[in-house]
Amino acid sequence: MHTVTLIAGDGIGPEITHAAVEVIKASGVNIDWEYHKAGMTAIEKYKDPLPQHVIESIQRNKVVLKGPLTTPVGTGFRSVNVALRKEFDLYVNLRPAKSFEGVQSHWNDVDLIIFRENTEEFYAGIEHYIDPAKSAAETIGIVTRSGSERIIRYAFEYARKHKRKKVTIVHKANILKFTGGLFLESGKKIAQEFSDILCEDKIIDNMCMQLVLDPHQFDVIVTTNLFGDILSDLCSGLVGGLGLVAGANLGYEIAMFEAVHGSAPDIAGKNIANPSAIILASVMLLSHIGEKGAAQRIEQAVARVIKEGKKTTRDLNPTAPVGTKEMTSAIIRYLQ
Ligand code: NAD
Repeated sequence: MHTVTLIAGDGIGPEITHAAVEVIKASGVNIDWEYHKAGMTAIEKYKDPLPQHVIESIQRNKVVLKGPLTTPVGTGFRSVNVALRKEFDLYVNLRPAKSFEGVQSHWNDVDLIIFRENTEEFYAGIEHYIDPAKSAAETIGIVTRSGSERIIRYAFEYARKHKRKKVTIVHKANILKFTGGLFLESGKKIAQEFSDILCEDKIIDNMCMQLVLDPHQFDVIVTTNLFGDILSDLCSGLVGGLGLVAGANLGYEIAMFEAVHGSAPDIAGKNIANPSAIILASVMLLSHIGEKGAAQRIEQAVARVIKEGKKTTRDLNPTAPVGTKEMTSAIIRYLQ
């Protein structure tokens, strides 16, 4: 029996995390879920977006399945997603983007692994207006040598362990000569320890264009926080959309698994969200806690349902879609 903290989240969060829990149950893995609220729902109940008892639950269980959390745009409380990553020093954001058979998209056979630095730079929230009239605003993005080295080393070690051939360091060191320059310099230094892995670097704007032109030229990608966030949505688009891409936030002790997508308020509560991304996040979670067999079976069941294309949600199947619940049931049927 494993105990895992579960934050259902906002918007489509409760629907999709419910789907993930049902799928894991059907796989035969016994998880005692500790349900907690964070973000908007925690403010409503506790007047605090990240209550202390949630932090304690995560400290105790060390593993979290998290639904998406809404962050007010341009105003209001700061991102609880970012707060969780900072609180537990979850410095690695690992986001694989892999094609599924049966998905209509511009590219087939995409297989990319994005490593995003998850604690520094513009996400640190060091920002203010310079005067009461709000005539200008300033954000300070701090990039440290140790922060850069640890995420880049993690990416290279992953590449070696998983027999990947190349790591691309993505930056903007031509313009951001200090922050981007430090990240790139750290990357070139770490690359020397991994002579068996090819290393190249690309400027972010060119990288976006190259990914759209031909994603097959890339393998493992490592980059700073903001660029990593944008690139992972771009790569989701290459493999059929946000409904299909999962991510892990990893620290030295604690691991938090989630979909790459947000709370999708435009489709919340309508039983139309694709549950695949959070189910694939659960696959990563199960591997992490040593349930590799169940993880593999769930991944295969998801792939089979997507390949057949008959019991899939609107984002994959606009002409004859089924709902979140029906797609989840189809995945469960193949597990059984
Ligand atoms: P979003 O990812 O929620 O949605 C973008 C688009 O993708 C929308 O059209 C949505 O309907 C669609 N989409 C997303 N998930 C889907 C799914 N499972 N199935 C089918 N379609 C799906 O991004 P947004 O609209 O820019 O952000 C909404 C909120 O989510 C914001 O408050 C943002 O801060 C938050 N957010 C949270 C996280 C997180 O919790 N890690 C990540 C990104 C955004």
